[in-house]
Amino acid sequence: MTLTPPPLRNDCFALPTGVDWTPVDEALALLKTRMHPVTGEETVPLDQALGRVLSRDVLALRSNPPLPNTAVDGYGFAGAVVEGSHVLPLITGRAAAGLAFEGVVPRGHAIRILTGASLPKGVDTVILQEDVTVDETHVAFRGPLKQGANTRKAGEDVQEGGCILPEGRRVTPADLALASATGHAHLWVRRKLRVGVLSTGDELVEPGQAARPGQIYDANRPMLLALLQHMGFESRDLGAVADDREMLRARLTEGAAHTDVILTSGGASAGDEDHVSALLRDTGALQEWRIALKPGRPLALAMWEGTPVFGLPGNPVAALVCTLIFARPAMAVLSGAAWQVPQGMDLPAAFSKSKKPGRREYLRARVRDGQVEVFRSEGSGRISGLSWAEGLVELPDGAVQISPGDLVRYIPYDSFYS
Ligand code: AMP
Ligand code: MG
Repeated sequence: MTLTPPPLRNDCFALPTGVDWTPVDEALALLKTRMHPVTGEETVPLDQALGRVLSRDVLALRSNPPLPNTAVDGYGFAGAVVEGSHVLPLITGRAAAGLAFEGVVPRGHAIRILTGASLPKGVDTVILQEDVTVDETHVAFRGPLKQGANTRKAGEDVQEGGCILPEGRRVTPADLALASATGHAHLWVRRKLRVGVLSTGDELVEPGQAARPGQIYDANRPMLLALLQHMGFESRDLGAVADDREMLRARLTEGAAHTDVILTSGGASAGDEDHVSALLRDTGALQEWRIALKPGRPLALAMWEGTPVFGLPGNPVAALVCTLIFARPAMAVLSGAAWQVPQGMDLPAAFSKSKKPGRREYLRARVRDGQVEVFRSEGSGRISGLSWAEGLVELPDGAVQISPGDLVRYIPYDSFYS
């Protein structure tokens, strides 16, 4: 384990003065400049590296393929073959993957060779076994065949010393193939980012408990904890607290001691019961980012005893959208990963909508038969729509008038997890 980088500064969320509603792209650009990695690094064996963030560039310790070899089963010999029929004497022995043929194949002779075998000395070209007739002593086939046909050059895929994976990348199953093939048994990765999740509100009850009239079950916490796991972070359940400033203070302090980031939901507006923003304003260097976004409220960003706090709206729909659009790329950078832009695609709409200018808007959506459908209601409390959806439609900041068949930008939920 090496040194852990310093935490974020207390003024890291400060906004330029005089800014009113900040467009989404500007808010993201600002967030990008303010975040930096806060986790230390360690080495892990390949079988524990999946989903982890690389803390260093990975260089190939070995070329792939390490030696020239054959891409097919067949017969190897030297040089190009001209048009017409050819008969070559076969030498005894064969070359197979992992079992190199140690001798030399004399000019004008051929050798049996199997896929993956290193090319023996005297062989640079291979003819496919389907294209020959063969007996005990000779192989016959028709040209032409180019020199080097059906072979792979040493290092044609990866050269020894070349960068195979960049720092900040989240390791995929295919990356493990590449790392292993080029000689790695371990990788340098960041320690996992620990993210605490805290729900707030007098109305919340725990799943399994009896709910009085007026009380509701906590929907945000199970969703956010699961999302964080999907994103490769280590989630910490900080529970739910009532709208009570002292309890909230104690819970934040307790949480901050064991986490790198805290996500709270609820109580983040400017209302009487919005204790999260009130407390953070007094003690946590609160910055209210009024972002031109729907659904969403001002995003409360603060530092609590060295730990950044994202104060998310209480509405589950707004909480999810704010997490995906803002908290996720910020947390990615804190975790040592590169800044991430979710990849969307332009697909024909299966709906109509007219949108006023001013705010970027995200709708719950899914794709069926190549067309984007949106949930029937845009109500921010409609949890069933979150579950119905498989992604979001992103509508631009300006006014738009969408008719069926018009292209709209669809971002699958999966784009936010990788
Ligand atoms: P707030 O941001 O505290 O004003 O909450 C906005 C709305 O979201 C209210 O209707 C809350 O009851 C609801 N809400 C807040 N937290 C949660 C939660 N954890 N699960 C479900 N709904 C919530
Ligand atoms: Mg509340």
